[in-house]
Amino acid sequence: MTAPTQPTTPDDTKPSNFLRQVIERDLAAGTYDNRKFAGTPGDAAHHAMGAADPARIRTRFPPEPNGYLHIGHAKSICLNFGLARDYGGVCHMRFDDTNPEKEEQEYVEAIIDAVTWLGFSWEAPDPRHPVAMRTHLYYASNYFDFMYRAAEALIGAGLAYVDEQTPDEMRVNRGDFNTPGTDSPFRTRTPEQNLARFREMRDGHLPDGAAVLRAKIDMSSPNINLRDPAIYRIKRATHHNTGDAWCIYPMYTYAHPIEDALENITHSICTLEFEDQRPFYDWLLDTLCELGLTRQPRPHQYEFARLNITYIVTSKRKLRQLVEEGHVQGWDDPRMPTLVGMRRRGYTAASLQLLAERSGVSKSGGWLDYSSIDIALRDDLDPKAARACAVLDPLKLKLVNFADVFGSESHREPCHAPVHPGHPERGQREFVLTNEVWIEREDFMEEPSKGFFRLSPPRTDAAGVTHPGTRSRLKYGYVIECVGCEKDESGHITAVLAALVPDTKSGTPGADAVKVKGVITWVSVATGIPAEVRLYDRLFTEAQPDAGGRDFLSVINPNSHKTITAFLEPGLATAQREDHFQFERHGYFVADRKDHTTERPVFNRTATLKDTWAK
Ligand code: ATP
Ligand code: MG
Repeated sequence: MTAPTQPTTPDDTKPSNFLRQVIERDLAAGTYDNRKFAGTPGDAAHHAMGAADPARIRTRFPPEPNGYLHIGHAKSICLNFGLARDYGGVCHMRFDDTNPEKEEQEYVEAIIDAVTWLGFSWEAPDPRHPVAMRTHLYYASNYFDFMYRAAEALIGAGLAYVDEQTPDEMRVNRGDFNTPGTDSPFRTRTPEQNLARFREMRDGHLPDGAAVLRAKIDMSSPNINLRDPAIYRIKRATHHNTGDAWCIYPMYTYAHPIEDALENITHSICTLEFEDQRPFYDWLLDTLCELGLTRQPRPHQYEFARLNITYIVTSKRKLRQLVEEGHVQGWDDPRMPTLVGMRRRGYTAASLQLLAERSGVSKSGGWLDYSSIDIALRDDLDPKAARACAVLDPLKLKLVNFADVFGSESHREPCHAPVHPGHPERGQREFVLTNEVWIEREDFMEEPSKGFFRLSPPRTDAAGVTHPGTRSRLKYGYVIECVGCEKDESGHITAVLAALVPDTKSGTPGADAVKVKGVITWVSVATGIPAEVRLYDRLFTEAQPDAGGRDFLSVINPNSHKTITAFLEPGLATAQREDHFQFERHGYFVADRKDHTTERPVFNRTATLKDTWAK
């Protein structure tokens, strides 16, 4: 695995974005200085209740554990953890597990794994024990007691009521964009009546869906989210953390601001679809402060545009459909935009950090071109990845004068190449030239087209003049001259024949004596190792697979996955799972994290060296 590095960002895109400006403004104004942790004793999270908070800012990454994280989440992770890192703060890892039906422990573990892999940590120095670290990993469900108490406090203050209209009545009475809402007949219940009824909800006296607790705000607000939003519902479902302790659960929009407040979050960063929820976020936290349940200065919500990338879908529902209907081989299929899939494909954590950084932070959405992912990968790996030779579409080349030059057909002529051309200190790869080598089929043309400089046999032109075969260099080896080819009965080329030009070995004084235009990568037939190589490409043929209501399944790329047998330089025999290489002239490849073994090597193509999709 490649260690994450500090991303380097080109200056023209290096953004001081609006979030950085907000944070810098708050730091300069001391908005969050001298604040104390909020909450009340007895709440699980309230480790440092009442203690001064040493962190300058606190952000959080709050996934719902209902699916695997994807590239869009990576952006949010890099943003939240990155801001905390850059401004001397802490980012909390928080599972927003308020919805008991869809959440599973499997996802909790996968999410922890993915964020750790991306290179982030939620450990921070513990203010109470200067040498200790504290783990900022939280579950919204740990605050259910507090959320319940806060709901009772709202009821007591006349700011919440139990509504027993049917869901249909509630929908109609909410009104719409043009029509103000209508008060529920239950809206005038007294706090005492509401409290008694809410406790009956909690104690299981009402069936699922029979009633909800609603905040009492304003049924004619132009913002529909303020028309008495539901804050608790009845749902008999076993929760992955609290089991059957509750049959009422807080709504996400109610739970989230409370989670932020209890954890002393300063900047609560989310995607734009929550913009309309911000007035309720503010109402709730200001109200709870007035009721003495939480403290000022309270967190504030800021929204940014989500990351959209061409040729990718990131909706959890659609990703699940791809897996469940068998269009891909699982959540970690290397074509999936999930972090487990991208990791398996060979994208590095550092490349995803780089991508997230480069994608910037803005208020208006847009589409990032898929090629940006590969560009980030190349920028990360080009200076790091060890080089290796591989032949992906093998054609045998026989060196007809090998024994004459070296004295024996079984001679092994040592050759070497740099591990990395930019890092001589990383040493040399050693391999041997033998009498037969694998070359790429495309490096031979019996009838060469114009501008083809690699191997083609001697030929006689229309005027009857005979031209010798072409010369090319076997990279890190000798210049060779093509003398012919072999074919099977059906005319299919089975081998290329060539003669070594003596005294032209790379790195010797004779190397420059013969000038050639073509350079060919090769692997010795005797010592090369066969490997399964999986060639991946984009999963969709259209840049915006679900644009205009199109069924995204109808534009799946039928050629997004191909498995071949390739021959690799012998040094790759010691490659370990998740080792990254640049296969010279082909691109970046990784030893598969699940299937690769030294006995049976399996490599995945992460990206080609150049963008093959650019027209
Ligand atoms: P999806 O729409 O794929 O189901 P979600 O928003 O429901 O995603 P959560 O688990 O709630 O998934 O997301 C955790 C965090 O990641 C949220 O703060 C959310 O805004 C953010 N996030 C999700 N998708 C993207 C994206 N494409 N770009 C940026 N941030 C994202
Ligand atoms: Mg969500």
